[in-house]
Amino acid sequence: MAQSAGFCYGVKRAVETTKKVKLENGSKNVWVLGELIHNSHVIKELEELGIMTVDKLPDKEEGICIVRSHGMPPQNIDEMISKGFEVVDLTCLDVKKVQQKAVQLAKEGFFVLILGKPSHPEVVAINANAKLHSDDVYVIPDIETLKTLKDKIKQHKRVGVVIQTTQKLEFLEEVVTYLVPLALELKVFNTICQSTSKRQEEAKELAKNSDLMVVVGSKKSANTTHLAEILTGITNTVHIETSDDLDEYKELIEKSQNIGVTAGASTPDNIIKNVITKLEKY
Ligand code: SF4
Repeated sequence: MAQSAGFCYGVKRAVETTKKVKLENGSKNVWVLGELIHNSHVIKELEELGIMTVDKLPDKEEGICIVRSHGMPPQNIDEMISKGFEVVDLTCLDVKKVQQKAVQLAKEGFFVLILGKPSHPEVVAINANAKLHSDDVYVIPDIETLKTLKDKIKQHKRVGVVIQTTQKLEFLEEVVTYLVPLALELKVFNTICQSTSKRQEEAKELAKNSDLMVVVGSKKSANTTHLAEILTGITNTVHIETSDDLDEYKELIEKSQNIGVTAGASTPDNIIKNVITKLEKY
């Protein structure tokens, strides 16, 4: 099993602090706007403790509202405060850093590129923060999208880049290679978080000596999906959410000699343990 498989410090902090907030404020409602982390088992556990996950905050309620580790657009946080909610901000410090760098680039007049998935809450929040300071802010999910901005980039000349914390380094490299001949001035912040880089490097090493890699975590989780994508290029890889999904790959598992296991930043330890136990039985 990869050493860094499972919860990263940002997710651990978000889950533990949210539970603590509820424990210390038993009589108050505790709301999380959007899923605290991308794992349905954790969301269910929070619900059982009375912590409510909602898409929209109710108008006529009171209580504490949690800002999740992905962060949130400043407008949403202002809305929480104006509705009278107490706000507990659990945005991961690494995500805060990306927001700050994007804002810095926007303020310095760069043409800002945010590399990441446009609908991912982390990217939505980074974009919203930077857009407060400039209209020249674009989210780039892939190199094809970047190519459509070629003329604008040439015209602007000064280009700044940040990247979603859980993206692949290969994507940043691809973008920088494309931009070098186009931009007169290029400022790049590699904002992939250390936890993600370490997890990806460890998993790659493990995959080199494995006939099969099992990646455990939600299909909605960006960092888990990227892990599976990276490992697919190295060895046989399956992406599962829980041990139940292993049955589908029984034949492949039984003919593999060395099986490596890794997991995304939002995968709880008990889910990883169940996977290992089931693999041992096979
Ligand atoms: S994956 Fe990185 S940025 Fe995201 S919560 Fe974990 S430590 Fe923070």
